[in-house]
Amino acid sequence: MTGEKGKVYLVGAGPGDPFLLTLRAKALLDECDVLLYDNLTNPEIREWTRKDCEHVNVGKSPGKHSIEQDEISEILVDKANENLMVVRLKGGDPFVFARCAEEMSVLDRAGIKYEIVPGVTAALACAAYAGVPLSHREFGSSISFLTGHEDLKKESLRVDFAKFAEVGGTLCIYMGMSKLEEIVDRLLQGGLSPQKPTIVVSNGTLPTQRKIMCSLGELVAKTREEGLAAPAVIFIGNAIGLATKANWFEDRPLFGRRFVVTRSTAQNGEMKNKLQNLGADVLELPLIRILPTEDKKLVAEVFAGIATYEWGVFTSANGAREFLRIFFKAFKDIRSFGPMRIACVGEATASIFRKHNLEVELVPETATAENLATALVATDSLDSANVLVVSGNRNREVMVNMLETMGHAIVDILPVYGTDFAEVINSPGLERYKKEGADGIIFSSSSTALSFIEQEEDLILESEARVPIHCSFGPETSKTLRENELPVDLELEHPGIEEMIESLVQRFG
Ligand code: SAH
Repeated sequence: MTGEKGKVYLVGAGPGDPFLLTLRAKALLDECDVLLYDNLTNPEIREWTRKDCEHVNVGKSPGKHSIEQDEISEILVDKANENLMVVRLKGGDPFVFARCAEEMSVLDRAGIKYEIVPGVTAALACAAYAGVPLSHREFGSSISFLTGHEDLKKESLRVDFAKFAEVGGTLCIYMGMSKLEEIVDRLLQGGLSPQKPTIVVSNGTLPTQRKIMCSLGELVAKTREEGLAAPAVIFIGNAIGLATKANWFEDRPLFGRRFVVTRSTAQNGEMKNKLQNLGADVLELPLIRILPTEDKKLVAEVFAGIATYEWGVFTSANGAREFLRIFFKAFKDIRSFGPMRIACVGEATASIFRKHNLEVELVPETATAENLATALVATDSLDSANVLVVSGNRNREVMVNMLETMGHAIVDILPVYGTDFAEVINSPGLERYKKEGADGIIFSSSSTALSFIEQEEDLILESEARVPIHCSFGPETSKTLRENELPVDLELEHPGIEEMIESLVQRFG
């Protein structure tokens, strides 16, 4: 156990990128009973908690009564008194402009134990992700963190910016966007040169990060022109001038692009990670669900006769994975697999067998069930042969029919999983998809395309949204899209995650 019951953890969530959380924060999130969060914390981080963890949004959002600080402290005390392990997640670092002291004193008074976990504060994270040096041996020997406003309702600036003009070094201004004109005026009045290098980074560390570089004198006009908005950090100082236009984070090939992945949540991980590493913004819209369906009697029959099959035919990676799972449940020894030759629809499926040192004898040039059947028939080995087709619940009839009528095989079908349409209205990414759209929507199978078509009503884009291109994993998926009058803008010759990523980089990079 990492955390204790009846205790409150005041945890820094960093600026947005989930990879910037500390290991301590991650461990506490994995375990906690209650999570209090506000709007600046990335929703992805909240998904790390246990399924039964209670989530309390204590942020201010439009149309919702905003929770006052007292109320937040009260919730912390109540939940801890219920002997729950409570995580209070705060954007960036809990001690930087985050009213942590107030929560600590309430907890002290109530006699509740607490712990503080630091986080990467926005200024440091934005600087790193925008390639902005904050100090330099010759040009900047001090760094100041300032705040434009602590509270939007408070009219005047708390910080005497004119004095900070004299301090020099690098100024990092948080919460400065709504009072930008006033801040710049004061700094100029205090004697700062209008030529001072300035950079604003908004949505730092997120796929939506933007920055502008200019001089202090140009700052107000430039920010307006570019429409840069909060949350943003404003950096001013000579060291800032050493930043270059090129920037490791924004120069990644898919930065600024948004893609929708549509497979089941468990299957999306690899593609999502790869796209994100190349800088893309990834929306998850799971359109299908994969459910293992194990007919115990049928499995027992098939396994009893496993040595009699000449071919095992696998039409998907899911099927292969699921088959091997139940195989190893039934048999301890790989030799029980017997002499059955293995045919797979594509490389992704074949690689699952190769990991177990099982040789795959046949993979068609292009991964479709029809091509798999044609290639099998062409081996001239099917006549009166026992063939086991391991598949899901969809798209197998044509193939089985070909094996039987053209190859004269005796086919047994073993369904090991079912594909169901997942209801898109439950998807966490739906709201952003409808509002902002995407550059591409990736259909990895006919089932995802069919589910999209069936739920089109719930997927209508708002007028401002980007209209995505349709990216198809292969000919079968494309056929489904075209049959339903949807265009296919990108189709892979050889279906695979790597191939899809490469094509997207070629098209958008
Ligand atoms: N405790 C936080 C600061 C909270 S105040 C921290 O340590 O970072 C909120 C301000 O933080 C915003 O107005 C903005 O100035 C800054 N901020 C937070 N997240 C940001 C992000 N992703 N990009 C740019 N600025 C951010």
